Amino acid sequence: MKSPVAKAWCCVGIMMLGVIIAMLSLAFLNNKVLSILIIVLGAGCFLSGIILHYAWVRCPHCGSHLGRVYGTKCPFCGNDTNRTES
Ligand SMILES: [Zn+2]
Repeated sequence: MKSPVAKAWCCVGIMMLGVIIAMLSLAFLNNKVLSILIIVLGAGCFLSGIILHYAWVRCPHCGSHLGRVYGTKCPFCGNDTNRTES
């Protein structure tokens, strides 16, 4: 099981990939249909990164979405987010 911080960075990577894909559309400005398709693909990739962030980056103790707080302690219940209770 990966820590929430590792998952958060994974999601940030997916979002960055979406931005890069969207920027690639600039190379196809002479082809409107293709450039729009690439922008949609990039936006979809970016949005799935955000959705995955909400789905994955959660406290293993109380289930709260950790948002941009990448510390080892949950801001909601105060437990260590890198350790799951057994
Ligand atoms: Zn918590």
